[in-house]
Amino acid sequence: MIEKETVAAAVEQLREDLISLVQSLVQAPSLTGEEGAAQEVVAAAMRDLGLAVDMWEPSVEELAPYAEHVGEFETLAGRPNVVGVWTGSGSGRSIILNGHIDTVEPGNPDLWDSPPFSGEVIDGEIVGRGSLDMKGGVATNIIAVKVLKSLGFEPDGDIIVQSVISEEDGGAGTLAAVLRGYRADGAIITEPTNVELLAAHAGSLVFRIHIEGLAAHGGWRDEGVSAFEAFIPVFQALLDFEKQRNETLDHPLFQFMRNKVPINVGVVRSGSWPSSVPEWLIAEGRAGLLPGETLDQFKRELTEVIVEAAAGHPWLADHPPRVEWFSGQFAPSEIDTDHPLVEVVSRAHASVHGAPPPISAIPAGTDMRHFVLFGDTPCVIYGAGNPRYAHQTNESIVIDDLVRAVQTIVAATIEWTSAPPE
Ligand SMILES: [Zn+2]
Repeated sequence: MIEKETVAAAVEQLREDLISLVQSLVQAPSLTGEEGAAQEVVAAAMRDLGLAVDMWEPSVEELAPYAEHVGEFETLAGRPNVVGVWTGSGSGRSIILNGHIDTVEPGNPDLWDSPPFSGEVIDGEIVGRGSLDMKGGVATNIIAVKVLKSLGFEPDGDIIVQSVISEEDGGAGTLAAVLRGYRADGAIITEPTNVELLAAHAGSLVFRIHIEGLAAHGGWRDEGVSAFEAFIPVFQALLDFEKQRNETLDHPLFQFMRNKVPINVGVVRSGSWPSSVPEWLIAEGRAGLLPGETLDQFKRELTEVIVEAAAGHPWLADHPPRVEWFSGQFAPSEIDTDHPLVEVVSRAHASVHGAPPPISAIPAGTDMRHFVLFGDTPCVIYGAGNPRYAHQTNESIVIDDLVRAVQTIVAATIEWTSAPPE
């Protein structure tokens, strides 16, 4: 076993490499859809380390059957995934270290204290779009391999480093890597989690409700039926359904959340003229699901709630609302909190921080589901930086936090790959 002090010293040796890799990644903008240039930086760094690099543009045809999960694409030209493989002796557990290279757009650059793609170091932090979410995590994985090489480590299990595209809009990159055959005994996604260990994430479904009314002149409004007024009991039924789900559904990692399963109505459009009774209404929303729930079951339940609300309404009973499911359908997923991968990453964290990390969950979709649902690969999410600051102006990552994350990933990788598969 390699001592923790040895790991810490080896990571410290590569602190400048870590900083400059994050900087070069930030300086190669990679908004979702434009990941090519940054992936060249990743591929070059992986080749320098002697990894076997697989760089490919995912096939639109291959992803098409999964459109519900990752969206639809006309083309993925110029948007390669990059995977670097370090083949082990074969007797240990394999591990995938995954990060996404795509970022959201920077917003108004004038609002940034330094240009959004400068990668400037200010007060011990690297600033720039993607520094936190999650070029810091991509660099963590690559530098972890560099540290292992510098220690003369020879893995028993394969170490597979992934830099994927299209996470921000549904996770096509990670799914494409799974479909290409990249599976392992465990996967760590180094998204910023404030070094909490995420063992579960919620699912989400996006829905659209159509309500029909009856148009009339506003001067004789009682002769029409307002679709907006008809929506009110339907909306109330959604709120009641949300409340009932919160009261009856149970998950230990979601218990502390004020609203475990939010149903958010984010868009309501109705009518087209102030002095006409609105004859139509469209409401669009997003519902959260807990691990253990299935998309189909939830769709049935929500539809029933709306049918029931309509049945008790004089107009809607004969003009039932229509429910549509569109855009991303993100299933929830989780890992047992006593899974060996959770234990190994917790121990690695404790070796760096002195105590195990909090084990938690997030109320949003992540790429974890692709590993778990389609890749038969147990997965945790663990990385430096506070996710609350992702997507913000002046996004930044604390260098010392990144250094500790590299130490943790190195320690976890050593322990994980040194033991045989179950
Ligand atoms: Zn992210």
